[in-house]
Amino acid sequence: MTDLFALNGRNAIVTGGAQGIGEAIVLGLRDAGARVFICDVNPDTGRASAERHGVEFVTADVTDPDSVDAAFEHVVSAGGSVDVAVNNAGIVHNHPSEDLDPADWRRVMSVNLDGVFYSCRAAGKRMLAQGSGSIINTGSMSGHISNRPQPQSAYNAAKAGVIHLTKSLAGEWAARGVRVNSVSPGYVGTELTKRGLSNEEWRRSWIDGTPMNRVAEPGEIAPAVVFLASDASSYCTGTDLVVDGGYTVW
Ligand code: NAD
Repeated sequence: MTDLFALNGRNAIVTGGAQGIGEAIVLGLRDAGARVFICDVNPDTGRASAERHGVEFVTADVTDPDSVDAAFEHVVSAGGSVDVAVNNAGIVHNHPSEDLDPADWRRVMSVNLDGVFYSCRAAGKRMLAQGSGSIINTGSMSGHISNRPQPQSAYNAAKAGVIHLTKSLAGEWAARGVRVNSVSPGYVGTELTKRGLSNEEWRRSWIDGTPMNRVAEPGEIAPAVVFLASDASSYCTGTDLVVDGGYTVW
């Protein structure tokens, strides 16, 4: 059974892989046997992380389709194929919607939704040509519920978009050997949630709203991605795997 989860001989790229959830996914894919490329807009943290974990680094800004395309091309030139693409780069912006600056709305949409589309497109065109591949997008429980008490309408809308984009692409590409799924974490302790976790009102609300009564470690999200990357999920496409300690049941 465990052989189904093995990724030996496969090339994987993880956007936003320098730190946080992406970094844990990099470790999960590497430990399952894949050759892994961290892809990140921050070359300092990206290179340091790649060196620390014995994987490779390629830079890209997911908001720029040419830069994303070049990163995927790099993986194919170095490894001969791109078999697993984890489109995980994301940012958050907390601000009341009635006053939200359109530039901030655009920035969040640009990284969290446009960026996922550009990465899916770059992965999809190469995987369709190969006739195989698995794409995993990082969604969020915020694509299903609206978080509280912090305002973040752009983030929530973008993540709902990621989940539905995933289903749309899954339908387009299933018959040609390419699977597209998403993983939707609940609250995870990373840089992205540092501000919220240091605000007692937010932290209390987040933990009280989670049946398991705690936030996740990044390493608790990675195994779900390894499952969707591997042949263990050979009949899964267009699904969203929610890993949220039960947050969305209430
Ligand atoms: P993080 O801030 O720790 O890491 C994000 C990484 O993405 C960083 O390495 C950053 O440099 C990179 N990045 C940002 N903009 C980029 C761009 N334009 N191009 C390429 N790389 C870029 O955040 P995290 O908590 O690890 O979040 C990872 C993903 O998980 C995001 O999509 C986030 O929305 C999602 N998520 C996080 C949580 C949580 O509670 N932390 C919950 C649900 C979903």
